[in-house]
Amino acid sequence: MPDEPTQTPPSPHETLIGAIRRYLATHPAAADTVEGIAGWAVGAVASVTADEVRTALTHMEARGEVAKRRESSGAEVFARTGVADVSVGMVRIGIEHRGSKAEIIALDSDGRQRLRRREPTPRDDYEAILTLVATLVADAERECDIRPGEASVGIGTPGSLSRATGLLRGSNSVCLNGRPVQSDLEDRLGRTIAVANDANCFALSEATDGAAKDAAVVFGVILGTGVGGGIVVNGRVLEGRNGIGGEWGHNALPWPTDDERPGPPCFCGQHGCIETWLSGPGLARDHRAIVSGDTAPAHEIVARAAGGDATCEATLARYEERLARALAHVINIVDPDVIVVGGGLSNVDRWYQSVPRLWTRWVFSDRVDTLLVRHAHGDSSGVRGAAWLPSA
Ligand SMILES: [Zn+2]
Repeated sequence: MPDEPTQTPPSPHETLIGAIRRYLATHPAAADTVEGIAGWAVGAVASVTADEVRTALTHMEARGEVAKRRESSGAEVFARTGVADVSVGMVRIGIEHRGSKAEIIALDSDGRQRLRRREPTPRDDYEAILTLVATLVADAERECDIRPGEASVGIGTPGSLSRATGLLRGSNSVCLNGRPVQSDLEDRLGRTIAVANDANCFALSEATDGAAKDAAVVFGVILGTGVGGGIVVNGRVLEGRNGIGGEWGHNALPWPTDDERPGPPCFCGQHGCIETWLSGPGLARDHRAIVSGDTAPAHEIVARAAGGDATCEATLARYEERLARALAHVINIVDPDVIVVGGGLSNVDRWYQSVPRLWTRWVFSDRVDTLLVRHAHGDSSGVRGAAWLPSA
């Protein structure tokens, strides 16, 4: 093993340690193999080998910056320790734009909240929204006592950026659709930024330091007014070739029964999308179809079921069986370690016991060890995930 050089300029070995340190600082949930770190972390270091990464990690372990452990599979993985936090003073700013509000958060590198604020956004005025975001970032940097331009910035928004055109699409803030939101904000903010779908931000937040912390593969699910999803692998969002990784809400409900076909019409033009069954309005519509004249919204149906109402109880039983089918479909493709649930319907306690009992029927495995858990960060998950987006 070579001695560690001390002279300047930094040796390739020290450059590599710096790259690994930056990676671990910006991916606090990452626990990865040598090969994984070589692949994920050190793209900036030309022609590095796994042996060189192992040597660097051994030095970092000796300094107490990383800890090594062996997983049940036998794989050796490395994760950062608390010592590493001390040397990293980076402030991460996340902004979530949703409907008529923008929320900003500033986090320390270890996820401690420095500030959080909500502002109403100007309606239907693209330029005014850009100006507001730039002002929020400048104010946050001042309050965090850092230089302008020093914080990293991530933006979470409904919809997604087209990888082909760079234009936003599918946002319910329609004035943003068809606009180069990322490059326009980069011009205003004078730095590169990261932009992602709000469900991806949710999944990243929970995978980084929330309910799915330390899990290698995480599927984040939003069950609310709509149904969305995001996949995080080793601390990174899996955006996918078309920028729609994890978007399961507009797949058809799997293993449909005869009376579920063709299913309710969806705004996307299809019938029987998962969203038409598993969103809050979908649950209420299903209840109304069985109990004619009962127009209760989802939260009221949940409350009445808890109070012993048999028809509401039956509606929740249909819902959780469909949720089990829809998630079994995901498990058969992605096979996540943890599925973490957010959105208004994540607050129904019974799902976390009933659904894993039910999904075994459709998962193509003799046993299912996937965990189904409720979010840890609640309303903050989207904006926290936006802050975790920039990878360096
Ligand atoms: Zn649809």
